[in-house]
Amino acid sequence: MSFFGQVNRMFDAAAAHTEHPEGVLHQIRACDNICRIEFPLKRDDGAIEVIKGYRAEHSHHKQPTKGGIRYATSVSVDEVMALAALMSYKCAIVDVPFGGAKGGVHIDRRDYSDAELERLTRRYTFELARKNYIGPGIDVPAPDYGTSSREMAWILDTYNQLEHNELNSLACVTGKPVGQGGVRGRTEATGRGVFYGIRQACQFEDDMKELGLEPGIEGKTVVVQGLGNVGYHSAKFLQDGGAKLVGFAEIEGAIHDPDGMDIDAVMKHRRETGSIMDFPGATNIAASAEALELECDILVPAALEGVITEENAPRIKARIVAEAANGPVTSAADQILQDNGVLMIPDVYLNAGGVTVSYFEWLRNLSHVRHGRMSRRFEERNAERILRAVDELTAESFDDRLLDSLIKRIGFGASEEDLVNSGLEDTMAFAYDEVRVIRKEKDVDMRTAAFISAINKIAKSYADMGIFP
Ligand code: GLU
Repeated sequence: MSFFGQVNRMFDAAAAHTEHPEGVLHQIRACDNICRIEFPLKRDDGAIEVIKGYRAEHSHHKQPTKGGIRYATSVSVDEVMALAALMSYKCAIVDVPFGGAKGGVHIDRRDYSDAELERLTRRYTFELARKNYIGPGIDVPAPDYGTSSREMAWILDTYNQLEHNELNSLACVTGKPVGQGGVRGRTEATGRGVFYGIRQACQFEDDMKELGLEPGIEGKTVVVQGLGNVGYHSAKFLQDGGAKLVGFAEIEGAIHDPDGMDIDAVMKHRRETGSIMDFPGATNIAASAEALELECDILVPAALEGVITEENAPRIKARIVAEAANGPVTSAADQILQDNGVLMIPDVYLNAGGVTVSYFEWLRNLSHVRHGRMSRRFEERNAERILRAVDELTAESFDDRLLDSLIKRIGFGASEEDLVNSGLEDTMAFAYDEVRVIRKEKDVDMRTAAFISAINKIAKSYADMGIFP
């Protein structure tokens, strides 16, 4: 089944638990616009290569549409449609007021020089702009698999050349470098969100009991597949939260150490040797995919879609599968894992941290001011005023040194990063609880509950527009 077909299958399973008329459901499910482009790239050796690019805008119930741009050989019309649909549902679940979109360029980025990547990114942006598929109020790309803040800076610069008088042009793309209008905390946002989501799931005693696990992250064994931006940061925050990282899988193979490994040491080893293999103290696993079947409490697939299929799903031993990637579990595999009593924390919820912080970046760009700039010093002074008042009211009971140290500890204003992280934490915790309530009420799995939440919210925005009943 196609990837978009699989997403629709999950949608339909959830839609069956709602009361919306079929026409409304059809409109929510349908992919509104697709742009397919082919353009020439002059390679460094002078040869001309024709590059295929796409952008799908799935839903315009909120505008702009939003979603990353990936550079991968898996990119196709079907893939961008599926991923754009997931973006619509994802944004709805975490109350980020965007429709869903996704773009992609069909290349293996490792085959291209930096100069070639820059040329093709700029040309791709130009094509999107020409076709009205990019703009602060139209469609706002972001990083995804194979792209980073560097590509986003090229996109912004190209857009600026075309729309040189647009006041809000910084908001045409998110995930930019901080010096180019990016927001602090965006790079690690998806991984941080994955951590907040898993932590929220693990704090419910009754849910953990059903899985035969203790509540909390502390001491949980984790396997992470994919050490790109999302995988690395998910692992890092889980490790900082007290989890034990017992396995890592990458393209070159996988490593296993039941005693746990330090993520930064693994990354350093990979930088130095070009591979995660032969990490001191760990066992090599030549076939990377076998790492998914390792004994662990939490499995975090954080690379591409379709890595857990009906073939390997019966051998997965993890009690929790936390989908940091988009679509890592096929719908047939999902069923097998559910039947085996695995708690699936679905992608549409779990990796929404990236787009949530993209939303904060977009707001920053539209307001033309760094978050917290107006209030930071005021908050700091206010805390100081309160402490001094308490001191006075309690008849000067603090000695001066204690008062000074209290002011230093409590009396600080929130920085942009503090605000971004707290907004992200609140968003992830709130959305989890909301989906969990639906899960209990309807007696369904988390993915179906997450889709029900998305469908209800999108249907409501159409109803609020007066378009549908
Ligand atoms: N590519 C990320 C995702 O799949 C982020 C999208 C965005 O920030 O717009 O959610």
